[in-house]
Amino acid sequence: MQVHKPHFEAEVKMATPKTFLTDIAVNISGDSSIRPEDVIPIIKDYLMDGTVIRCYPGSGKTRDAIEMANWLWEKHGIRTLYLMLSHSAINEVVERNNLDWTHWRGHQDGCEKRKYAQLGYSTKDCTCGMDVDRSRPGPAIAPVEYILPDNPDWFTREIFNFQLWIIDEVDLRRYVAQKSVTCDELSRASHGQQVVADVIDALSKSFTGKLSGTELYDEVSKHLEEAGTSLATVMDELLDIKVQDLTLDQSKPIPNFPKQLMSIFGYEAENYLNSRSFNSRIHIDAQAGELRYWWNKTPFPEELIEPAVPGYPDSALHAHPTAIILDASADQTLMRQVTPYVHEYQVEEPEWPAHVHVHQYLEASVSRSTLSLYPAWKAKTKEALNTRRVWYDRVVKEVKALPGYSPDWAVGLITFKPIIDEAAEHLRGQSIKVFGQISYHNQRGSNELEDVKVLVMLGSPYPSPEGFYEEAQAFFGPFESLTSHTTQYTQQVFMKDGSVREVSIHGYEDSNVNRYHRQKTVYEMYQGVHRIRPHNVDAGDERHVLLFSNVPIPGVIVESQLMSDKVKTSESRMALAINVINEAVGVSGECYKKDLAGALETDTLTMKSADRWIERNIEKLENSTGTVFSGGKGAAARFTT
Ligand SMILES: [Zn+2]
Repeated sequence: MQVHKPHFEAEVKMATPKTFLTDIAVNISGDSSIRPEDVIPIIKDYLMDGTVIRCYPGSGKTRDAIEMANWLWEKHGIRTLYLMLSHSAINEVVERNNLDWTHWRGHQDGCEKRKYAQLGYSTKDCTCGMDVDRSRPGPAIAPVEYILPDNPDWFTREIFNFQLWIIDEVDLRRYVAQKSVTCDELSRASHGQQVVADVIDALSKSFTGKLSGTELYDEVSKHLEEAGTSLATVMDELLDIKVQDLTLDQSKPIPNFPKQLMSIFGYEAENYLNSRSFNSRIHIDAQAGELRYWWNKTPFPEELIEPAVPGYPDSALHAHPTAIILDASADQTLMRQVTPYVHEYQVEEPEWPAHVHVHQYLEASVSRSTLSLYPAWKAKTKEALNTRRVWYDRVVKEVKALPGYSPDWAVGLITFKPIIDEAAEHLRGQSIKVFGQISYHNQRGSNELEDVKVLVMLGSPYPSPEGFYEEAQAFFGPFESLTSHTTQYTQQVFMKDGSVREVSIHGYEDSNVNRYHRQKTVYEMYQGVHRIRPHNVDAGDERHVLLFSNVPIPGVIVESQLMSDKVKTSESRMALAINVINEAVGVSGECYKKDLAGALETDTLTMKSADRWIERNIEKLENSTGTVFSGGKGAAARFTT
């Protein structure tokens, strides 16, 4: 696959559907003499191609793409399926553009069919009366799950009756599925095929800790042998059968897990038996009492594509209709893991506007543990609340210190979900006019904060350490070889005065895992800061963005560094060390001593001295961070939660 990088990249503008499509056609054909009337046949010829159009939030991409879909239908009879991240985003778009499109919805909460479908059974009738005509002519709009079904047997056939898919915003998490089944449910699952029953039984006896990979299969082998069989025998027998569904137990239904779980199990067990390495996608967590299994849902195996797309005899050969992806920030390398796109171009983001003033805290990343949200048991204690109040007061102080501050100023707040109300209430108690509040990882109301005078973002939205690495393993699939070691990276923040500040960011040694980690964090920061619609703010209208996070955001120019007296004193070595440990354990549950020494090293403090300083202060560091130190002077020395 080859990405064309057209030299006219910066000139691509979605002026009209025609010029927009002409740009695409010129781009994919490489022929710059294409006339608008030639565009449709060219687009039709490129059924296999996906095109990624990078456009910043507020660039009008949704409006223009919708206009294009209408035009394609009205003038050319070409049907578009428009895919968005949530029903609320769809409702907003339908309302704002007054669209007469078919909005695909699933069954409602409480519907019997939905309830049992979520458990993996297709046996029940609808009780909610939801009825959508998916064959209705014209464009349709739907959540992206329609092309990414959890259960590949249940995909909606009508998705192939469109000539074009437009995917508006990509959230890589949606390409990954995760299901879980409890130990109790495993024990109660009565499966009609003996070999499957044997495996389920062995799994249910393997709840001895956190197990995956080789450790898990060692344990499962042991229990299979106790039952008079072996993993090798089981694998032979599994090859000869088609795994059946569970029979629905009406009184106490359990998830219909065997088909999908056995398919992943079979793959892993085969690699285990052949001593080949693989990425774990089955995880037993005895403390949580559950077995989690993950897979990448990337569409679509070729055999699923029938009937062929009407009017396109060759379409059975292709994975899916032409897809255009409108996306702001997804990492190219990661996108290639999930979509076979071949063309890409960019609607260039204008320079950061000088009248939208960004003030960023650069000392530490203000992670969940900085705000005493992790580990979870700590979050509700009085000490935790006191820790957070210090941060809330810091926010209040910085807002009130803004030039020309007036109590009428509407302030928008973005922070972690568990503390969003607590934080907003605290700010209001200090007479800050909190106008809107949105938590990280929330797809709701894209325009809710666009009119605020001040936008506050509190905390770095690193993915929660629970499950992150499991998710990354599922995303990259079984073939990539990944590792979970963490490390610190130096990144750059660009300042308005032309200087560059270096910040220390937590990440993973493995470049793939780190890329995924970074993408998830930066995506939230980028979406958050763009909720104020910086590029649409009138030139005479001064706005402020306060970032309590040191994560650099692409395209953002920082005017000043947030540094209260408290922050200044906390720059002492101990405070820095505590921050580094908290950050590290917040991501991975551990902080290596050598990484900590590296973070403390300065012009006047050598790595060796830093190391000795840590050894003198182990007990204090343990107490201040709720961690335990182990490993003595060796390379594996570390603090763990
Ligand atoms: Zn229903």
